[in-house]
Formats: sequence, C-alpha cells, structure tokens
Amino acid sequence: MSTNILSIIPTDPFWVPGAEAAEVARAILARVYPGAREVALDWHEDPVFVDQGENFENVRCPGCHSDLLIDWWQDQMDEAYATNFQVLTVHLTCCGRDSTLNDLVYSWPAGFAKFVLFAESPERAGTGDRFVIDASPLDSGELAVIANALDHPVRQVLARY
Ligand SMILES: [Zn+2]
Repeated sequence: MSTNILSIIPTDPFWVPGAEAAEVARAILARVYPGAREVALDWHEDPVFVDQGENFENVRCPGCHSDLLIDWWQDQMDEAYATNFQVLTVHLTCCGRDSTLNDLVYSWPAGFAKFVLFAESPERAGTGDRFVIDASPLDSGELAVIANALDHPVRQVLARY
C-alpha cells in the first residue's frame, strides 16, 4: 500500500518560523485534513531534500526550460549533499545560467527545507460517500492562509511512496 505525504516548505531553504507560528500553521493544516494519519512538524539542522517520491517526473532549467539530465542532477545533488545541502548553487550548462538546486523546476514540485510541515495520508472531512475520500491538495487560498500564519511564502510538495 502506498503512502501519501503532503508537505509545506518555506520557499527559502534556510528559513525557519518561530515555534508559535509553526504550531498555528500545523493547527490550520490539521483542520483542513481532519482524517490525516498525522499532521506534524519536522525541524532539521541542515536543509533536507523534500522529494516527491513516485511523483517524480523530470527536472527542468528555470531559465530556458530544458529538460535536465538526471545523471547531471544526481551529480549536483551529491556535491550539495557533501556540504550538508548548505551550498545549493548549480551552473546550468544548457543556457549558462547560475541557479540553485532549490530553484530548478521539479515536476512534481520538490524543494529543500530546514522546516517541514506535513500531513501523512491527508484526508479532508467526509464527502458524504464513505467510499469517496477527498485527499485533494491545498488550493491557492489554503496555501495563502498557511503562508500568512508562517509569515513566509511556501511551496507544496506532494509525495507518494
Ligand atoms: Zn537553461
């Protein structure tokens, strides 16, 4: 059986909220997904890659939108990992731009974060039909409410394992 994890991460990989704001955001996510197995916070000393699991399709250049070779991307990940993901800069050979691993265009979205708010098996309130589970991701309005609670823009990562 596969597991779905919906994560909310700050757009800045090094930014973390205060404990109180984080708890407010957690409570909001728990209200949106009352049927979730768990709604919790993860704090990391160094940024971690919050991946999309089986939802990974490709990685593209944020400048020219070229598909990036997975081998190239893996090499960049290995180099960044050697710095505990403190150094995320990359040089894109497709168009000569400098960017960061966090700014590449991941499909589905993914990113780096020291703070992760997540819901495991996100499930909204009953649909009225017990065979129909509403596990839809946060819409832009809900994301804005959480971003507002944290006082920082956020990115949503939908992972399946
Ligand atoms: Zn490019």
